[in-house]
Amino acid sequence: MNAPSVAQNLSDVRRHMADALAKAARPADSAALVAVSKKQPIDRIEAALEAGHRIFGENRIQEAKGKWPALRARYPDVQLHLIGPLQTNKVHDAVALFDVIETVDRPKLARVLSAEMERTARRPKCFVQVNTGQEPQKTGVTPDDADAFVAACREDYRLPVVGLMCIPPLDEDPSPHFELLAALAQRMELPLLSMGMSADYEAAIRLGATHVRVGTAIFGHRVG
Ligand SMILES: *Cc1c(COP(=O)(O)O)cnc(C)c1O
Repeated sequence: MNAPSVAQNLSDVRRHMADALAKAARPADSAALVAVSKKQPIDRIEAALEAGHRIFGENRIQEAKGKWPALRARYPDVQLHLIGPLQTNKVHDAVALFDVIETVDRPKLARVLSAEMERTARRPKCFVQVNTGQEPQKTGVTPDDADAFVAACREDYRLPVVGLMCIPPLDEDPSPHFELLAALAQRMELPLLSMGMSADYEAAIRLGATHVRVGTAIFGHRVG
């Protein structure tokens, strides 16, 4: 895929988002598009930046560190979301680089994040990741543990928790997972919901997503 089609794909995805919001009787600006640029060639990312897009998602600290500082020097208003698992030994880099950390999922990570935010006075907004499918290989707190963990993040660790995030099982209808996440967030009075990817972002918007994470529908297939 070449550069012009990234701009076209972006406008197609934005139009589909607008249609889904309208159908759900939601305000046109109530869902943000996180363009997932992991494993994408720089020219595709630059095409999105040139088309005016500013919110991006990456799942690996090392990869993000390699490409975003130079791009950010040219586009200072870029907002970066971390959407992949975070090891505690990478927290320093994550807090320095990311504006939003969507994958807070265990007490040890919450504690180390809290200490790093205290030390550096940078406070990336946090989402708690929920393993809605209770898949053993996936990160995220279980739905049963979510209330207590969110309460600990807020009260014990004083993290700026703004919402919940989930990645439904690949082989299932995602809608029940989106509904579960929305119900949990409502119960905890968390305003933001990160859910929905290329295959299902419209369904996620109908069920309340405020952030959709879309990669291949914007950039084409990942390389490497
Ligand atoms: C890769 C990834 C996405 C984007 O997936 P696409 O199917 O390419 O849209 C979204 N969320 C997370 C957590 C990811 O790792």
